[in-house]
Amino acid sequence: MDLNKNLEKYADLIVRIGLNLHAGDNLTIRLSEHSLPLARLVAKKAYQAGVGDIQLMFNDDSITLDRFLEAPAESFETYPEYLVDFTEKLFLDNHHVLSIVAPNPDLLKPADPARIAQWQKVAGMASKRTMKYTMQNKVKWCVVAVACPAWAEAAFPGMLEEEAMQKLWENIFLATRIDQDDPIAAWEEHDSRLKAHRKFLNEARFDRVHYKGPGTDLMVGLVKNHIWEGGCSFSEAGDRFFPNIPTEEVFSMPDADRVDGILRATMPLSVRGQLVDDFHFTFKDGKVVDYDAAVGKQILDDLLKTDEGAKHLGEIALVADNSPISNTGVLFKSTLFDENASCHFALGAAYSENLEGATERSEEENRKLGMNDSVIHVDFMVGSKDVTVTGIKADGTEVVLLQDGEWKI
Ligand code: ZN
Ligand code: ZN
Repeated sequence: MDLNKNLEKYADLIVRIGLNLHAGDNLTIRLSEHSLPLARLVAKKAYQAGVGDIQLMFNDDSITLDRFLEAPAESFETYPEYLVDFTEKLFLDNHHVLSIVAPNPDLLKPADPARIAQWQKVAGMASKRTMKYTMQNKVKWCVVAVACPAWAEAAFPGMLEEEAMQKLWENIFLATRIDQDDPIAAWEEHDSRLKAHRKFLNEARFDRVHYKGPGTDLMVGLVKNHIWEGGCSFSEAGDRFFPNIPTEEVFSMPDADRVDGILRATMPLSVRGQLVDDFHFTFKDGKVVDYDAAVGKQILDDLLKTDEGAKHLGEIALVADNSPISNTGVLFKSTLFDENASCHFALGAAYSENLEGATERSEEENRKLGMNDSVIHVDFMVGSKDVTVTGIKADGTEVVLLQDGEWKI
């Protein structure tokens, strides 16, 4: 594998397909030390595509951890308003966002979970004003990942660092189709396949979806006038973009008040820099009424306590087991990758694009229609070859959608 050549292709895919950057656009890049080589290539290609201004927002894992361990308690009580203002000003100045993440699934393990939960809530509430720019696709946004030693070690435990890094990069390039001769053509083809599933689901007008598998028996109502999305999205200005690279999901909006049964996660989850494993939720009338986890129960306690919407679902996503990511067979311990290898749900905020007319109504009106609202949006995986997913129409007609890990439609 030629890393430099693949990084060039990766940058090209991000600029042309991920964010579809052109003259008049500005770009904000969220990055860490590990993202720099890719960020530099992206920036160069972005300028070449006509981007006028690029702003960098830098984060460092080690400094983040030290903050949670050492900073004074009161500094976690308020979020600087000027940061929210600054972010909003960027969006208003036609800035689009690229997040180049280098996941460190267990980064905050030594930190106090209560402090992490408090900060997530404070930061989440303060950022609500700017979150809507991405949650409602007002701007173009794209999340991609790069390898780093901590992630390589989590994904390939016990392997020497150099070998694990090499293996992780290879898998990233497989999952993102960068390994193919013409990744852009591969993405266009992939997008049209996702669109076909989307079209079928949108025409079927299912009332609810049933999940059945080991430890899982769940009925999920869909909101009326729900929209299945998948593949590319469109910004307010009508520009095509891909919010996630990779992406394999077709997703829609569950009715926050019509979810009943039990749901067992099929993969561990890295949330807020800490791992939760072997967990399940029981839902009644849309609300989590019981749950447990063999690892990280405290993290779930704090997560569900965030606000009322944290106890309800905001996303339902279908993913076939047969995709480049799944076929790697790797448990990445990073949501961006694992959620695209498995059917998943999210607790917390729903996406406006999944409900007809959502952006024209108030939050309260949307909530009455079943659209969940929260400062969190946390995906967790429930799919495997053993989970059968069936769509049920209002008249009781049943259609098997996924079985043995494959699409049946
Ligand atoms: Zn999803
Ligand atoms: Zn999600």
